[in-house]
Amino acid sequence: MKPPKTGEMLHLRGNALNKGDPVALPLTQSSMYHLPGAPDGHPTYGRVENPTWVHLEHVLAHLEDAPCLTFPSGMGAISAALFATVKAGSHILIPSDGYYVTRLLADRFLSNLGVSVTERPTTAFAEGGFGGFDVVFLESPSNPGLDMMDLPAIATAVRTAGGLTIADNTTMTPLGQRPLDLGIDVVVASDTKAMGGHSDLLMGHVASRNAQIMERVEEWRRVSGAIPGPHEAWLLHRGLETLDVRFDRMCASAQVLAERLAEHEAVKQIRYPGLSDDPSYALAKAQTSRFGFLLSITLETEEKAETFINTCPMLRPATSFGGVHSSAERRARWGDDVDPAFIRLSVGCEPIEELWQAIEISLNAL
Ligand SMILES: *Cc1c(COP(=O)(O)O)cnc(C)c1O
Repeated sequence: MKPPKTGEMLHLRGNALNKGDPVALPLTQSSMYHLPGAPDGHPTYGRVENPTWVHLEHVLAHLEDAPCLTFPSGMGAISAALFATVKAGSHILIPSDGYYVTRLLADRFLSNLGVSVTERPTTAFAEGGFGGFDVVFLESPSNPGLDMMDLPAIATAVRTAGGLTIADNTTMTPLGQRPLDLGIDVVVASDTKAMGGHSDLLMGHVASRNAQIMERVEEWRRVSGAIPGPHEAWLLHRGLETLDVRFDRMCASAQVLAERLAEHEAVKQIRYPGLSDDPSYALAKAQTSRFGFLLSITLETEEKAETFINTCPMLRPATSFGGVHSSAERRARWGDDVDPAFIRLSVGCEPIEELWQAIEISLNAL
């Protein structure tokens, strides 16, 4: 994988400035633009465009190496990608063990509009082939199971069968994995997670090198009104400026933690794609440039899992992930099909020895 040039990204704005311009990105909080006469080529209205998003999208496009459109949440981006590509009579395939709200969207809304929805587990996603599917939605590694799919093989098979692929890349970010380079048609992501990184905003984006699809996605945003707020766009842009250092620290710490947790007697099971005996290791090595900052552990009982999460002073007991603060939660509380003592742990930016000490003390006390 060709890694994005994050140094170049940091100077994208600076290298286009005129004398006297602010170096930091201005936050443009306006619904109206001064627009006497013919509007040609000028910003028209706040639902159509905003200079703060436009620059954010320029930066995201650099990371994705593809045109990019932003949305007010990850689900806003996923909805846009799906509504722009399906119609009544379409057949779509989605993972049965990926992010559960994507399944809800398909089951509760798309199926009512005459779209037929098929689910398959991540680890057997290619079984049965892809004939007859118009859109194949992938997630790799899956949230929360951290199972992976062979993205290049699936991308090729779906294309040969005449379908289109959309991959949710939230867990890896474009610094860890670039599905478009692996042959996927459309990338969607929740930027609420590691991209923003400070647990203070919700946003999402769609990226694709297919201009027709991006036109439809832009039209969907303009017409549905699912537009990002300028302040969120500004915050996300600021978050992206430190993504490289945060992601680097988080992935390095996750590897150390995973290796130590694997040896700890309170841990019954661990999943981390960077452990050489993990079922995802081979695919992760082939497809990703880092092993990520998410890991899962299963403790002995639900009670022990709750005690651990709620007493460890360096774990925020919270849903969502990817922030500078490490966080953890029992996914069974949302109905994910996992062991009641299964904990998804998002490794943050704390210095590793401080973090490990807090985790070890809490595990030893169970
Ligand atoms: C969080 C998440 C989403 C949804 O993102 P929001 O910003 O919460 O709407 C989609 N996919 C995955 C894999 C996620 O983790």
